Amino acid sequence: MRIILLGPPGCGKGTQAEIICKNFSIPHISTGDILRDNVKRGTEIGFKAKEYMDSGRLVPDEIIISMMKGRFSEKDCKNGFLLDGFPRTITQAEALDDLLKQMKISLDYIINIDVPDEDIINRISKRLSCSNCGEVYNLLYKKPKNEMTCDSCGLKLNQRDDDKEEVVKNRLDVYRKQTAPLIKYYKDKIKNVDGRKNISEVTKEILNLFNS
Ligand code: AMP
Repeated sequence: MRIILLGPPGCGKGTQAEIICKNFSIPHISTGDILRDNVKRGTEIGFKAKEYMDSGRLVPDEIIISMMKGRFSEKDCKNGFLLDGFPRTITQAEALDDLLKQMKISLDYIINIDVPDEDIINRISKRLSCSNCGEVYNLLYKKPKNEMTCDSCGLKLNQRDDDKEEVVKNRLDVYRKQTAPLIKYYKDKIKNVDGRKNISEVTKEILNLFNS
């Protein structure tokens, strides 16, 4: 199964992606996670990407596209994948189309999780993540068992630099201008889900799409 999850930052893509990927045993490919890992490891990609990420801007298409070409050629993508945070521009979507054509495969589902801007700012300001294992929590609906420490590895949780309110506003602006046009690009295939509902209701809506 090959899926794209679209939606503004903080719409719950990452949370839903994890659940779906576990369910269908497919890899969760998040360009944000791959970039953060590169920043952490101090790679050349990480070095180039960091200033864009810190200010909430998109990392240039050519960096993302070449990074993704490598990812698709890995063994775990053989039975499918879920893309979270990619494509994020029309240029990336066109590059993905070319790549899929070369690999002689197609997408099965393109799902857009829709949440209004005011809810997003509220949600993201309550988001915490573990800089060690990457586990993401939210003080509104996915609280850690012990305040401020990661349930999995016990280390201190932090707010991502780009989850600070000013940067979030910029990320939303970038989303509306550069990523939202993908909804029209994929209009023949896209399915919308109401991301204001709670986590399990959104999951149910997505799973229903797979069964319909
Ligand atoms: P995310 O975790 O998906 O919200 O991504 C965090 C940041 O990584 C974004 O604000 C961008 O700076 C960068 N990023 C992630 N995915 C992409 C992409 N497909 N194209 C360009 N920049 C990206």
